[in-house]
Amino acid sequence: MKVYFDNNATTKTDERVLEEMMPYFKEEYANPSSMYDFSKNSSNAIREARVKIRDFVGAKNEKEVIFTSCGSESANTAIYGVLSHNRNAKHIITTKVEHACVLNPYKYLEKRGYEVDYIGVNSRGELDIDELSSKIRKDTALVSVMWANNETGVIFPVEKIGEIIKSKNPDTKFYVDAVQAAGKIPMNVKNTQIDLLGISGHKFHAPKGIGALYIKSDAIIKPLIKGGHQEFGLRAGTENVPYIVGMGKAAQLAQESLDFENSEVKRLRDKLENGILNSIYNAKLNTSVYNRVPNTTNIGFEYVEGELILLHLGDEGICASSGSACTSGSLEPSHVLRAMGVPFTALHGSIRFSLSRFNTEDEVDYVLEKLPPIMEKITQISPYQDELEQLKLSKNKAVL
Ligand code: PLP
Repeated sequence: MKVYFDNNATTKTDERVLEEMMPYFKEEYANPSSMYDFSKNSSNAIREARVKIRDFVGAKNEKEVIFTSCGSESANTAIYGVLSHNRNAKHIITTKVEHACVLNPYKYLEKRGYEVDYIGVNSRGELDIDELSSKIRKDTALVSVMWANNETGVIFPVEKIGEIIKSKNPDTKFYVDAVQAAGKIPMNVKNTQIDLLGISGHKFHAPKGIGALYIKSDAIIKPLIKGGHQEFGLRAGTENVPYIVGMGKAAQLAQESLDFENSEVKRLRDKLENGILNSIYNAKLNTSVYNRVPNTTNIGFEYVEGELILLHLGDEGICASSGSACTSGSLEPSHVLRAMGVPFTALHGSIRFSLSRFNTEDEVDYVLEKLPPIMEKITQISPYQDELEQLKLSKNKAVL
């Protein structure tokens, strides 16, 4: 059996999305910018997809949407695009728990002379809004805050954050990385103070290689990719018509599935989470049960190595992910869990399970059957036997 519980990494392309894309590989391959009639179907298809993304993010106008190649490009376009337009203000703010596609441009900018504030989170992974508010200055050009965290699923109150930013400095631009929010919670940028917002198709059942960036009509950015006049002059390159069509369809389907996501997918996630926490004594939830997207759980298994759990799960056909990233041969614990102050005992043994609308109850039951014996085996070879014994005793006492 294969169980794919790593949907925050990427998702399966929906068959209906593929079907919608196919004609634009086969028959309708014209360059949408050409003058002849043959190009009309592809340029119309882009227009329709843009309207679908407009509705998905809740923009006022489809001209506020440009297509990119991925979430990382959307973030880079927003960050460098805002700063190239406003060259005077040299202070920028983000959070300690952003995705690398925001953190790495910020680190690069820091080296190039920008002053950067990285805002922290509490032990539940929630952003310190007061700290953020206190850091906004006259020369703050940009604030970047993700809508939902990829590792923990924790949701940040971006509407409220936008209000705070603009009340302190109306000239500060606000970018929201909504890659992990899209398709999981409702988004409506209309009447918010969000200036720019990025999404990525492969996180909501479109293929990899397509993203979008919302740019509020009064926000001005300079293009990152310069060349032709495509995407209102903000992103050069012949349009990726089949993928744009695919993301439009995926957005429409995701919008229609939002209720299902927040009822059925959430029910399965909760069943998995409760099942693990109840059956495995060294398991503990790394977040609160509130303020999370409905598909994600991040569980710390104390005194064991996450990679070892993943290897054993992999042997049973179960795909999940650990908080660690294997960088240059060394196992670096997750920057998100570190920012939350997750204790050393659970930092290395944290696993993220992320579900989608394609997962089933049988799959949850299968993981709940396979994981306890795996954990039994792994804890037996842990060098922390005394600590594990203590943990088992205190858990048993709590149950009594
Ligand atoms: N932002 C977040 C929160 C993500 O989780 C990811 C991907 O994991 C990205 C941005 C980057 O998206 P992409 O892979 O489309 O570049």
